[in-house]
Amino acid sequence: MDFSLTDEQQQLRRTVREFAEGEIAPHVMEWDEASRFPEEIIPKLAEMGFLGVIFPEKYGGAGMGYVEYAIIIEELSRVDGSVGIIVAAHNSLCTNHIFKFGTEAQRQKYVVPLAQGKKLGCWSLTEPEAGSDAGGTRTVAAKQEGLPGPRQGEPGRSGCWVLNGAKTFTTNGHHADVCVAMAVTDASKKSHGISAFIIEKGTPGFRPGKKENKLGLRASDTSEVVFTDCRVPAENLLGEEGEGFVNSLQILDGGRISIASLGLGMAQGAYECSVRYAKQRKQFGKPISEFQAIQFKLADMATQIDAARLLTYRAAWLADRAIASGARVSGFAAANPESSDVARTTRESSMAKLYAGEAAVRVANEAVQIHGGYGFTKDYPAEKFYRDVKLCTIGEGTSEIQRLVIARQLLGK
Ligand SMILES: Cc1cc2nc3c(=O)[nH]c(=O)nc-3n(C[C@H](O)[C@H](O)[C@H](O)COP(=O)(O)OP(=O)(O)OC[C@H]3O[C@@H](n4cnc5c(N)ncnc54)[C@H](O)[C@@H]3O)c2cc1C
Repeated sequence: MDFSLTDEQQQLRRTVREFAEGEIAPHVMEWDEASRFPEEIIPKLAEMGFLGVIFPEKYGGAGMGYVEYAIIIEELSRVDGSVGIIVAAHNSLCTNHIFKFGTEAQRQKYVVPLAQGKKLGCWSLTEPEAGSDAGGTRTVAAKQEGLPGPRQGEPGRSGCWVLNGAKTFTTNGHHADVCVAMAVTDASKKSHGISAFIIEKGTPGFRPGKKENKLGLRASDTSEVVFTDCRVPAENLLGEEGEGFVNSLQILDGGRISIASLGLGMAQGAYECSVRYAKQRKQFGKPISEFQAIQFKLADMATQIDAARLLTYRAAWLADRAIASGARVSGFAAANPESSDVARTTRESSMAKLYAGEAAVRVANEAVQIHGGYGFTKDYPAEKFYRDVKLCTIGEGTSEIQRLVIARQLLGK
């Protein structure tokens, strides 16, 4: 076994760290306090290739693998989880759904500008009444035959779909140019009656709604998106009709490596600021790092971060290995999407997400404790990590849902 990153991967980590410390760190608290989406950072992320990490170069991507993707999300989140989640939702949810299940025409039209970072993406599954139970989607899409559509004549692709309903908690909702949204197309077929659609910003009847005022990750935009008699051309049906929900579960399988990396990065940031503070803060005539109670906290934090990193990188490595072998990996952008050999990393991705998310919450909690009263103020980064990490036990499947997924895998259900 070899646990070390390659020279290129280590160089990538240094590059992302330098970028995050130079371009993001100076603005983090200003963006957080104002709850302001960092528009100005998007073109810079695009220039670095961070908005198309896992997509082949022929589709405008950086052509990197999941280990590199985990490094990028980890390093961005070490400085600001808000930027981490903006990049994660764009890459692993929106763009990956189109890449993995879209037609070649949809890949050319949408994946290329998304991967190049010329457009930003969002992905809408959750609804007010359909969270963990996302199969309870109520947004509907009714088919209207006969209306003009560029692919008229092709079964299921002529005419248009009329969407009505509302999605909630959509990351990048107000700022995205392209939205992938799930809607019921045949209620009688239950989970096989929900389809995915690509909706472009500016489509009449499509608008972002209420922006959430959040506990953490405040610079990321989490919003409602609303459909009112929104006509979407038939060619914007994404994947097979009725399979949007099932495909979404596979996309979420992959997205869990993102959230594990997000938690890992924030935990690393919280740990590093704690070590710095413990060495510098003196009480009873010596640095608090000399008290065993503080040393034990740091030891526990570092151990949990290491365990989280091993689980996260293992899941990413398994995904890369499966892609390299030509297998179609559940939830991942694969080199050969036509292959019938589906390699699953569901269990490993969920374990990584569950453990890294919960470890990040514990680590950030101890980071505040080590900072004492100053950890309760906005003068030190510990309080922001404490608020931001909580998302990791909720987004892309709560910890409770991860345990259900893992148990199902263990029991062969
Ligand atoms: C910052 C942020 C960004 C997000 N971004 C996106 C996005 O981009 N796109 C998107 O579609 N969604 C997004 N979400 C939504 C997120 O995925 C959901 O919030 C999450 O899946 C939980 O759904 P819920 O909030 O409705 O909670 P609920 O499902 O109502 O859960 C409430 C509680 O009940 C528990 N629970 C529910 N069912 C079970 C069960 N069967 N067994 C045991 N416990 C259970 C849950 O674990 C939780 O503790 C985002 C959420 C947040 C907060």
